[in-house]
Amino acid sequence: MKSAHAVPENRLLLGPGPSPVPPRVLRAMAAPLVGHLDPDFLRLMDGVQESLRGLFRTRNRFTLPLSGTGSAGMEALLVNLLERGDTVVVAVNGLFGERMCDVAARAGAKVVRVEDAWGSPVDVDRFAEAVARSRPVAAAFVHAETSTGALSDAGALARAARDGGALPIMDCVTSLGGAPIEVDAWRVAAAYSGTQKCLASPPGLSPVTASDEAIARVRGRKSKVESWYLDFTMLADYWGEGRTYHHTAPITAIYGLRASLDLIEEEGIEARVARHRAAQRSLLAGLAVLGFEPLVLVPERRIPSLTAVRAPDGVDEAIVRKHLLTEHGIEIGGGLGPLKGKILRIGLMGDGARIGNVVRVLAALGDALARLGRKKPASDPVEAALESHRSGR
Ligand code: PLP
Repeated sequence: MKSAHAVPENRLLLGPGPSPVPPRVLRAMAAPLVGHLDPDFLRLMDGVQESLRGLFRTRNRFTLPLSGTGSAGMEALLVNLLERGDTVVVAVNGLFGERMCDVAARAGAKVVRVEDAWGSPVDVDRFAEAVARSRPVAAAFVHAETSTGALSDAGALARAARDGGALPIMDCVTSLGGAPIEVDAWRVAAAYSGTQKCLASPPGLSPVTASDEAIARVRGRKSKVESWYLDFTMLADYWGEGRTYHHTAPITAIYGLRASLDLIEEEGIEARVARHRAAQRSLLAGLAVLGFEPLVLVPERRIPSLTAVRAPDGVDEAIVRKHLLTEHGIEIGGGLGPLKGKILRIGLMGDGARIGNVVRVLAALGDALARLGRKKPASDPVEAALESHRSGR
């Protein structure tokens, strides 16, 4: 008999994260533990750091998987780089920019918000103006705003921050592993991500990187970092040569990340980004037939791994999502904040970015619309997606 506490099985995770975890990663996480200071584990840590440098495209020594989810990475960067009374410019074009403001304000910083409509990328000129006007210590932005599907021009935003003498801080939780990221070329001072999106690992780790200049700023603070757990100076000793015990690393999660990084390296990051873009193109081709319109109007400003669409007029998006979950075992996301009830968010992230999943979600959406009594579309959405897949257009 099935236990009342049994975990649900057979879910296809096509929402805003977590994404499907490949069997090889799950198997790696079933390996017996070693001690967190075991020489073999220390070597594994070194290798994970080197692979993360490759993924972030950086030579930053301080590059490691922080114990905690993406929000821990966000909090860590802000509490280390900001002291009470410091000014920080934060771009807000969705939920996660908003969260950054909250975290920075709790750290005692003066927050200068640069707002854009939810669904728009960050306006680079207004971001640059705000930096020039307020002369902040740091200027932060979300590269891929998962709450809306908008991808901002991270290179241009980092340049604007640098031109105003500020350290650029980048959230790449949803873009790392699924869109081009160039920490060093863009001169980003510090960035954070999460494992449960395009890296195809379970949630629980936040890959972070910080330049020597950023770490020097942390070391030169007048006051101690207010969070003991997230203090980069101590984490640098733990993950660096000293290997000074700080906290017990989540060994199993790091085994999983190692396997995810192996898969990424075997595929190659360019091929992986191209796979995400191709899956999105096919998805959009099918969604157009079903009458779903993209929220983000400019194609280059859409996050390849997360597509936000408006439901056809008169269609209740919550009913559609419930139908997909209960009848088809497929999870997709709804809207948040001002977009609640207005959009659906379909994630094709990491291992999920495959044509087979596009076909499944389109067939399920077609079924949901038919159940709601909508007229059958003039052409077949699955065929439209497959045609896009075959032609590469
Ligand atoms: N930043 C962005 C862009 C995100 O999409 C998320 C999570 O969805 C976070 C930060 C927070 O990450 P977590 O939920 O892993 O704490």
